[in-house]
Order: sequence, then structure tokens, then C-alpha cells
Amino acid sequence: MLFPGLRWTDLGFALGSLLAGLVIGWSALGVQADRALYDFLLRLNPPPAEPSRSVILAFDDKTLAPPGGLQRLREPLAQALAVLARHKPKAVAIDLVLTEPGDEKVNAALEEALAAADNVILATHLAGAEEVLWLEPLPAFRKHAAALGHVHAAPDEDGVSRRIVLAKAAGSDRRWAMALEALRISEGAERIVETEAGLDVGDVFVPVSNREDRALPIRYAHPSQPVERLSLIDVIENPSTAAAVRGRVVFVGVVVAGGPDQYLMTPYSYGQAMSGVEINANAYETLARGSFLQAVPPSIELLISVLALLGLTVTFRLLSGKRAFAVGAALLILIHAAPFVLFRFGWVLPFVPIAAVTWLSFLSSGGRQYLRLRGHFREADAARGRYQRAIHYVTHEMRTPLTTIQGSSELISRYPLAEEKRKEIAERIHSESVRLGRMVDMFLSVERLAAGQLGLNTKAVQAEEVLRVSVERSRPLADKKNIQIELITQPGLIRGDAEFLEYACYNLLTNAVKYSPAHSTITVRADSDSQNVRISVTDEGYGVDEADLKDIFQRFYRTQQARESGERGTGLGLALVEEIVIQHGGTIEVESRLGEGSRFTLTLPRAAQPAAGVQ
Ligand code: ADP
Repeated sequence: MLFPGLRWTDLGFALGSLLAGLVIGWSALGVQADRALYDFLLRLNPPPAEPSRSVILAFDDKTLAPPGGLQRLREPLAQALAVLARHKPKAVAIDLVLTEPGDEKVNAALEEALAAADNVILATHLAGAEEVLWLEPLPAFRKHAAALGHVHAAPDEDGVSRRIVLAKAAGSDRRWAMALEALRISEGAERIVETEAGLDVGDVFVPVSNREDRALPIRYAHPSQPVERLSLIDVIENPSTAAAVRGRVVFVGVVVAGGPDQYLMTPYSYGQAMSGVEINANAYETLARGSFLQAVPPSIELLISVLALLGLTVTFRLLSGKRAFAVGAALLILIHAAPFVLFRFGWVLPFVPIAAVTWLSFLSSGGRQYLRLRGHFREADAARGRYQRAIHYVTHEMRTPLTTIQGSSELISRYPLAEEKRKEIAERIHSESVRLGRMVDMFLSVERLAAGQLGLNTKAVQAEEVLRVSVERSRPLADKKNIQIELITQPGLIRGDAEFLEYACYNLLTNAVKYSPAHSTITVRADSDSQNVRISVTDEGYGVDEADLKDIFQRFYRTQQARESGERGTGLGLALVEEIVIQHGGTIEVESRLGEGSRFTLTLPRAAQPAAGVQ
């Protein structure tokens, strides 16, 4: 027992639930279920409805409508940059690939526009199969950029983009994400300072730990409140529309499906993918708003699981029935509410492992309690049944001698009887009352032994001695039927109460005599091994029907053959023998064949010390 009511098996089951729950939680299915819950919680907690801090300048369908539009992005880009410069955005992040040589004249125009624009961030991305390298914009463009930022919106295995890795590396060459560079520039920070727990960007602390690969969960804007978008062609044709960019970060990119940019699913997608530039803008919004989500550390996750486990295990040990299930259900509800509550405070709890652990523990603790209670009820039922049967037998069996006693005493008192007849009746009364007395004594002995109320006077007892005494006691009975008793023994010490053991053997012997024909032989044997002493009584008697074998140890049970044999009995002898053997930590077995004989074998634990050394 660990502490009152709690057992080691409980701990075993709790540990099993913990391991199985964690395996379920960490399986592919568990991980995917957690992602679905994360998406749900993200949608349930959208960012506050307020104007976006960035603007997407979109190469949309309208802008790219002229033939070859997708091939000629630099020219309109240069024109748009010139317009933007007049409206003083905080930064302009250009999510376009500017690595190709392209047309010289167009490049010169773009270079000029870049030189005139402030705080431009250009895109860099990883390329190459064998050796991964950063592809950078042409040097002519690069030299006018305030920063380079990577534009990889790494989706999870299910193709949904939930996080952006803020620091990506090709070998030892690391680049910050474009959204992070946009934050740095808009914060007016010189550099990004790394700590184990996160990044310091000006006054903003971004809690992306090194352990989590500096991955930032993106809190996407609600589709009804998306990041504001301007069509690039509108800005060129109607420059006043660009007034919206003042004091905000502009993200320039292609937003048509089939364009050069990757289209990815998001937790809000419902089948509608989002362009890379929008994802980057959403990442920037997350950073600029400072509404960060952090994963609950695995140690805390484990702690919650263990606490839930212990709570449930203790609940089902200390309480029972409806109360236990009510408290268990309350704990389950609490656990299920945890991810919702924690999410509100910016914490993402990997829920499936905890839920699996808690449910397994609830089912195993609850199930075991149910089985335990059912077992108790069954035992109580069986005990009640046994008691009723015993009462039935007691009244039935005791009535027979009582009736004889009553009838006989009435005869004596009512009628004048000859002396010889009176003597005969008096003897009958005496023998019946002795039988009745024995019955009561034996019945009480069985009950007291079973209840552990008859203490054993335990010593090291010689099996040989026990058998010799009981054989001698039963010999007069055997002689009457000309039955021979053979005693074959080896020395062997039993740890037990000599008187009770003699009584048990005497009972087996008298049974063997009673239920055997005249002139047969009874063999009594004792042998021992390192652990036990075995005592067997074998007869050549009537035997016991197989169907009766399991019942003969029950109180008052007598087989039909026994009842018809004319031998008197109470049906209590074997019940008493069995109780004596059980109290000695031993077992009793019977092998029998109808008409061939029976063998009763007692297996009793050996005494470790010789008689002299035992108290
Ligand atoms: P009883 O007082 O009837 O002998 P026991 O409890 O000693 O009661 O035995 C229960 C029943 O088991 C007996 O009535 C008899 O039917 C059967 N039995 C016990 N020992 C033997 C035996 N050696 N051979 C055949 N039947 C036996």
C-alpha cells in the first residue's frame, strides 16, 4: 500500500495509462488531431478587429491582365515604388524573386526606384538540391536594400501553414524572415538580439525559443478583417490610393494562383489557399500586434497528465459509485477545458496526449472500480446464499435427531415400559443428543475457523506422529468392518497445530472407513519435498460421483451414496478439514472414481526448523 487506500497496482495501471496515452498522443493520428484542435482554437480566438498594420500591394489579376504580365513584374514594380516613396511607408517588403538577369533598361529603372525608396526589404530564398544556398537579388538591387528576409512559409506535414520559422539556415548561413526584418525596421532597431527564450527586436520581445527552432505561430487575421490590400495597377494609375500606406509596412507580391509564389492552406482556408505574400503579411501582423502564441513546455504537459492521473486514481480509490464517477467526470471536464482557457492566454497545450492519458486512466480506474464492486456484490450474494443454505441444512439436519429425542422421551414419559425397552430408548436419546451436540460443535468450529477466530497453536509437527495418532484413533472403527489401514510415512516436519492436523487426518480416515466396504484396505501416506509435506488417504470404497466432487467440501453436503449407505454423518467433516488446511496455508485435493475408491491429499507447508528450534 502506498498511502491509505492506494495500492501499487493502482500505480501500475496509472503508469500504463500514462505510457499508452502518450504513445496515442504522439502518434501520427494524435498529432493530426492536435493540429485540427489548434486550427479550431485559432479560429475561435481571432485577433481583435482593428486596422491592419501592413498593406499588401498586390500583383493581382487586374495588374497582371496584359499579355505576358507575369514575366514583366519589374517595370510596374519600379513605377509603384516611385509612388509609394511619396507616401512614406515604414518599410517596403518585396516578396518577388529578383535573381534573374532580366532586361537592362527595366533593371536600371528598378534600381533607380529602389535607390529612391527607404527601408526596402528584398526576398532571399533557399535553392539547390545537393548544396542548399541562399539565392539573393541581383547586386544592383541588393545594394539598395535595407535588409534581406527569407520568404519560406514552411507548412506542416498536412500542407497547412501554421508557423513561420523566423531564422532559417543554409549550412551556417542564417537569414531572418522577411516579416521579422519588417518588424526590426519599423521598430527602428539596429539588430535582432537572440536569447534562448526568444528574440529582442527593439522594444518587442518575440517568444520563439531556440528549442522550437524559432518558429512563430501565425495568428491569421479573420477572413472578414483581412490585411488591407491595394491593387498595384491602381496605385500606378491612381497614386492617391497609395495614401493608405503611410506609417505602415507594405508587402509587395503576386496574389494570383499559378503565379511564381507558393499558395498554401491556412487554418482559415476551408479549401481556399493563401498566397505567400499574404502569409508573410499575417506573420508581420502577429509580430507587430505582439499577440504571441507559445507551446506549453513538454514538462508542464507531463505534469498536467500526471496530476490528472493521480487525481483520477485517488478519486476512484477513495470514493465509490456515483460520487467517484461525478468527481472523475468533473476532472475530465476540467482537463477538456484547459486548452480553451490556456489558448485565451496565449498558450497552446498539446491536448491529445493529455486527453488520451486522462481518458485511459478514467476508464481503467472506473472500470476496475466497477469490477471490484461487482465482485464484492457477488461475494456478498454468495455469502448470503451460503448462509441461507447453512441455515436450511442446520434446521433440516438437526431436526432429525431432535425428532428422535422428542419422540423417545415422550414414549418414556407417557407409557409404562419394560425396563429393557426404557434402557434402549434412553440409549437412543443419549446417542442422538451426542450426535446433535457434535453437530453444533463442528458447525461452530467451521464457522469460527473460517472467521479466523480459532487461533492455531503453531509448532513444527512431525507428520508421522500426526498420522500415527489419527490411525490409532480410527482403528477400532476400521476393525469393526475388518478394514486394514496401512501407514507408509517418511519423516517430514509440518508447521502447524498438531491437534487440528490430527483432527483433519482422523476425519479423512473415518470417512474412508465409513464409505468403504468391509475387508478393504486404506493406505495412509506421508511424503515431503523441499517445500511441502503431502499426506494422502486412499481407500477402495464407493467413491464420489464427478458431479458431486466440487460440493463435498460444502457444509452439510452429503452425496446420495453416503445418505443411502446407512452411515451416519453431518456433512460437516470435510468442510472442517478444508478450513483447517486453509488456515495452515495448504491445499486439499480429491481424486475419486465411483465404485473404485477415493484419494484425499493434503499439501501442507514444511516447517523450516526442526521441532526444537520452533516456538
Ligand atoms: P459426512 O459426515 O457425511 O461424512 P463429510 O463432510 O465428512 O460429511 O463428507 C461429505 C461427503 O463427502 C460425505 O457425505 C460423502 O458423501 C463424501 N465423502 C467423503 N469422504 C468420502 C470417501 N472417502 N469416499 C466416498 N465419499 C466420501
